[in-house]
Amino acid sequence: MRGDAATTTARFAAARRVVVKIGSALLVDGKTGAIKGSWLATLIDDLVELKARGADVIVVSSGAIALGRRALGMPKGRLRLEQSQAAAAVGQIALAHAWSEALRTRELVAAQVLVTRTDTEDRHRYLNARATLSTLLGQGAVPVINENDTVATSEIRFGDNDRLAARVASMMSADCLVLLSDINGLYTAPPGRKGAELVCEVCEITPAIEAMAGNPVSGVGSGGMVTKLEAAKIAVGAGCHMVIASGHELHPLRRIAQGARCTWFLAPASALDSRQRWIAGTLQPTGRLVVDEGAADALGRGKSLLPAGVRRVEGTFARGDTVSIVTGRGREIARGLVTYDAADAARIAGLRSADLEQAVGFRGRDELVHRDDMVLLGGNGHGRQG
Ligand code: GLU
Repeated sequence: MRGDAATTTARFAAARRVVVKIGSALLVDGKTGAIKGSWLATLIDDLVELKARGADVIVVSSGAIALGRRALGMPKGRLRLEQSQAAAAVGQIALAHAWSEALRTRELVAAQVLVTRTDTEDRHRYLNARATLSTLLGQGAVPVINENDTVATSEIRFGDNDRLAARVASMMSADCLVLLSDINGLYTAPPGRKGAELVCEVCEITPAIEAMAGNPVSGVGSGGMVTKLEAAKIAVGAGCHMVIASGHELHPLRRIAQGARCTWFLAPASALDSRQRWIAGTLQPTGRLVVDEGAADALGRGKSLLPAGVRRVEGTFARGDTVSIVTGRGREIARGLVTYDAADAARIAGLRSADLEQAVGFRGRDELVHRDDMVLLGGNGHGRQG
């Protein structure tokens, strides 16, 4: 049976580059507000084991806000954006120190990397971040990444480290993303409820799978299952398997290596190249092109998107921005880099190639999105329970 312990062991053993995301609740003691040092020590043992078998390891660690709010004496409950930014400024120092000290005991060097969403959405900065991380890995250091919460205002922030970790996994061509969580995976119904079963394997994120993640409103924010599914879409779209596993116990990665029960989101075998991964993983396409059925079929057969097949243009975008290509029913079927800005795209929507020049006043490309700049979105199978 797939989804058994041996399959989990084999999958994890095959991973050559692993991104591990650790949530605040696992790392910071809710009562004392201190780092859970003994738990962290066992995680470091696990990272050492991974590195010893030749895998590259990248850590994405939360905890800055949780540590900093305590140090500043902030009240319990939800913080305002500026409060959490202030808390992160204080807590990030303690967080980086804890990682650095814990890794040092095993003769590993920690490298702090703080990023905002724009560092991964802007192609130039993305390539720069990737080069830095590659250099660090080449030097044997362990990058410990967090969002740069102190400067990341709402427009430019990830807001949760699940998607940040997925974006890092995609950027670094990782083959396995581990989200250590307070729960060991995705359940068919709220865990604890009668009949709720762990989903061991997800090959396609269907509406049924999304429904299991629960209400998008209550699930939004850091740590919910909804952001984990969003992360899975990014990771799987980049050819990286993702696993949600429990981080509550000691040695959480060794437990996966030994076949712990968890949920795997499986990437299709056909991997995208790195540029395609960047396009597919864009978190906020700036516009949408609503296409007719004929165009949707043509894209499925590997064709470019021509203006004739576009019914409507939505959003504000410049030439070269990433846009979503959606059906009339709003289903996103592809993403790509657009060759006209929003105003010109609206002018040529529905027109045949021969009429484009007259509409925009210059001789531009025949395609609105060229197939080389486009990634089709879609899965490869169905969810499996067990
Ligand atoms: N970046 C935040 C922190 O370090 C955590 C975000 C999250 O938990 O997803 O406190």
